[in-house]
Amino acid sequence: MSKYKELKRQCYEANMHLPQLELVIYTFGNVSAVDRQEAVFAIKPSGVDYQQLKPEDIVIVDFDARVVEGRMRPSSDTKTHAFLYKAWERIGGICHTHSTYAVSWAQAQRDIPILGTTHADHFTQDVPCAPPMADELIQGDYEHMTGQQIIDCFAEKKLSYEEVEMVLLGNHGPFTWGKSAEKAVYNSKVLEELARMAYLTLQINPEAPRLKEALIRKHYDRKHGQNAYYGQEY
Ligand SMILES: [Zn+2]
Repeated sequence: MSKYKELKRQCYEANMHLPQLELVIYTFGNVSAVDRQEAVFAIKPSGVDYQQLKPEDIVIVDFDARVVEGRMRPSSDTKTHAFLYKAWERIGGICHTHSTYAVSWAQAQRDIPILGTTHADHFTQDVPCAPPMADELIQGDYEHMTGQQIIDCFAEKKLSYEEVEMVLLGNHGPFTWGKSAEKAVYNSKVLEELARMAYLTLQINPEAPRLKEALIRKHYDRKHGQNAYYGQEY
């Protein structure tokens, strides 16, 4: 039996949540789950429909995107996942979709402004949109450089990947991450909702102001601050 069985199961279940949450159609999208001790991650095979996907189809690759175990070719975005796992040591899962509203903001090349408390319940910054890739990066090692583009965007905007667990890649779409593959998928759904709400808000009032600082702090801190009081203590 494969020693990666549990990792494959985590990855499989997280991937299967994407169509259930209506974040993907056909073969769009992929989720990976990392095992830091083994320095490998599990990722969806390339071009396999979700209805056909089985746990044993999940591919195990190392941080240089070389296949360690699996019969199928890994997702075409594997090098982007590998790059992010190498650069950001405290993430446990990554998710990429082409969900409609998040992609629309990416295509418009706009950050998603923080307009309400739903956004501030999760983090205090606008959702960053990285610029579209330059021609020489597209013609080179494209998926590897996609990872670099995301890291550069966070460095330039001085964002913490542990606070802001999502990015839009200009002209392409969203990448999200988190402590686990499940959290990365959760963040993809949150991002899609924030993108939809921001779009509708600006349709109703194109001048809608950014959420004011007192509400940003209140909503973020009551969930994530030192004296958080949202939810139950266990
Ligand atoms: Zn894509």
